[in-house]
Amino acid sequence: MNGIFSGITTVLKEDNIRAMKTPCYVIDEEKLIRNAEILSSVISRTGCRVLLAQKAFSNYDFYPLLAGYISGTEASGLYEARLGKEEMPEGEVHVFCAAYRDDEFDELLNYADHIVFNSINQLKKFGAAAKQHGKSVGIRINPECSTQEGHEIYDPCAKGSRLGVTRSVWDKEMTPEALALLDGIHFHTLCEQDSDALETTLIAVEEKFGDILPSMKWLNMGGGHHITKAGYDIGRLEKCITYAMDKWGVEVYLEPGEAVALNAGYLFTTVLDIVENSDIKIAVLDSSAACHMPDVIEMPYTPPLYNAESGSAKQFKYRLAGPTCLSGDVIGDYSFDEELKTGDLLIFGDMAIYTTCKNNTFNGMPLPDIYRLKQDGSIGKLTDFGYGDFKIRLGKT
Ligand SMILES: *Cc1c(COP(=O)(O)O)cnc(C)c1O
Repeated sequence: MNGIFSGITTVLKEDNIRAMKTPCYVIDEEKLIRNAEILSSVISRTGCRVLLAQKAFSNYDFYPLLAGYISGTEASGLYEARLGKEEMPEGEVHVFCAAYRDDEFDELLNYADHIVFNSINQLKKFGAAAKQHGKSVGIRINPECSTQEGHEIYDPCAKGSRLGVTRSVWDKEMTPEALALLDGIHFHTLCEQDSDALETTLIAVEEKFGDILPSMKWLNMGGGHHITKAGYDIGRLEKCITYAMDKWGVEVYLEPGEAVALNAGYLFTTVLDIVENSDIKIAVLDSSAACHMPDVIEMPYTPPLYNAESGSAKQFKYRLAGPTCLSGDVIGDYSFDEELKTGDLLIFGDMAIYTTCKNNTFNGMPLPDIYRLKQDGSIGKLTDFGYGDFKIRLGKT
């Protein structure tokens, strides 16, 4: 737990904290480097390539730093592909989108090196143009192998999923012409999982598509690998990678998002008020789960909090909640060694992923400023937001 917060003693130095207004995110460069070193070691031991999935973390001021360790970026569509190309030009740009648009595809060809299609229709529609422009063309398969339980919205192998081509659809729709366009196979089925789930998935991939893989140049194993989490079995991951390389003669790509920036950011927030209902004390904060940490509600999960426990292990118990009108804008129940009071500063951990690139201004909530905690201990503001950022998304006059 303290490991997660090792960066904040520097932030809490008086000169630094005085200049910062809450709510704000602080991204911890040293943590990011530590993650990148782990990913880079997998690259050097196996010869695989690792891409940053930008949908989890796209604070591009850190891209030059990350470019020293990883192989490029992965995008969910046109804008992320452009960002990857502009901000990490030395890396490869890969894109996967559930469906590409006619009016965007030409521009996409300027940015992406690998283009992965979600259906055989889309491959037939756009594959030849991609090929003519020298792109490496792939298709996402669905190995129909669920390895996660509990949250179906994060399971691309759930029944009825639109993501990836199942083998039965492949057999119905694939033609020799479409097959000839393919350079690689992509699958993405995991979410915050260890490498035993990858191993299980790889067996399913081999069962279903083992006949196709030898004619491919690459296999992209997607994201959801919790590689930088303490206790993750990296040895087994590397076995999966080398197995694929040896068995099918493919290059292997991984595209983690979460693992790149795991535990590499904090959200600083202030207690605005404390209210009570049915013996529950509720601290109302100046940051919102719905706006500033949306995955707390979507996932759902309870983020780590500095000097506190989630649950009721400590003496003073509070429910932490946001200032919006949404009844469910609740971050979670925590306990503390001391009573909370108005004006107290609270610090949430693991706030670099699915936050700065996913937040919103619901209720007219301000977007938190973003700071960078550098390796040398200095702090700089990356960007700040105000009323104009709320207003510009709603109209022009
Ligand atoms: C979400 C996603 C990723 C990254 O997932 P993480 O869980 O953040 O590692 C990678 N590839 C694809 C296609 C994705 O949809």
